[in-house]
Amino acid sequence: MAKKDGVSRRQIVSGAAIAGVASALPSQGAAQGAAGAAPIQDPRTKYPRPPFKKQSQPWPGLAGQMDPRPDHGEQSYKGSGRLAGRKALITGGDSGMGRAAAIAYAREGADVAINYLPDEEADAREVIALIEQAGRKGYAIPGDLRDEAFCKKMVAKAVKALGGLDILVNNAARQQTHASILDISSDQFDWTMKTNIYAPFWTIKAALPHLKPGSSIIGTTSEQAMDPSEDLYDYAQTKAATTNYVRSLAKQLAPKGIRVNGVAPGPIWTPLQVSGGATMEKLAQFGGDTPLMRPGQPAELAGIYVLLAEESGSYATGQVYGAMGGNGQP
Ligand code: NAD
Ligand code: MG
Repeated sequence: MAKKDGVSRRQIVSGAAIAGVASALPSQGAAQGAAGAAPIQDPRTKYPRPPFKKQSQPWPGLAGQMDPRPDHGEQSYKGSGRLAGRKALITGGDSGMGRAAAIAYAREGADVAINYLPDEEADAREVIALIEQAGRKGYAIPGDLRDEAFCKKMVAKAVKALGGLDILVNNAARQQTHASILDISSDQFDWTMKTNIYAPFWTIKAALPHLKPGSSIIGTTSEQAMDPSEDLYDYAQTKAATTNYVRSLAKQLAPKGIRVNGVAPGPIWTPLQVSGGATMEKLAQFGGDTPLMRPGQPAELAGIYVLLAEESGSYATGQVYGAMGGNGQP
């Protein structure tokens, strides 16, 4: 293992704790780094379909307590050196799409720093263990992105720990369902805006001086950007803003050789949905209204995050790549 930077060691990774987590996880062994085609599977039946058990967790929720547990590629993702030597920072890297990206990036050869909230320590420990099992450096940077000073500090810590930065994934978000606009307080509205719009703004500003030509910025947007639900008034507009900043910044940063792209998921089985992001009725039937008749799993988007960061994606900038189970966006 390479030198342990203070960021990870102090804040999370005790060797004993990680050894415990690692042994509790499915064995990845040598196979996790190996190339090889996954067996062909029917996308309709590959993963659980609704109805799902009713369940709710206090926000921000833990992947480890969902039933069924989401698949972030822990057992399935196989790398082939597509991001060898890269240095990535992923917000919301403890669970959901961010965790799937973190696992894939590490198995593709990148060192990975993840940000998450202190309440998500249990999920984050598993991710750090998985990154280390892939033979890469994993750094944990817990903290609240609604604080501009923290965003700057997070980037500085990641740059120091990784020895630079060439992939930034702005993935963290706040989503809470509200039947009526009248139910959304100014504080809640502000919370959503700070997390989903301000935090990427602050983080990108802090990261930009460190990004060399060939670097990649990726934002997680949503089907909500184009087709907003009635109960996600505040969240949906932040996703329209995300898609918009991707397109603006791509034009602005192309002359510097930095690419900016978005990933647009449809309904994906993650803690965000079971911790206030969806109504219980929607959750029970989650993803059932897509042509594939089930929600996606975070693992099913991992390859998109890799493609948008790696060399073979070098002509893609200002694009939004979707995975929506057949609903045809973006
Ligand atoms: P998730 O709950 O696994 O991830 C969201 C993460 O955001 C959390 O893990 C948390 O670490 C982070 N976060 C939230 N507020 C934060 C704060 N103030 N400070 C630091 N971190 C904070 O859920 P997910 O569904 O994987 O979400 C990832 C991205 O995917 C989000 O941008 C979300 O909008 C987007 N998305 C999700 C779906 C879906 O159906 N799950 C659909 C479209 C888009
Ligand atoms: Mg989480």
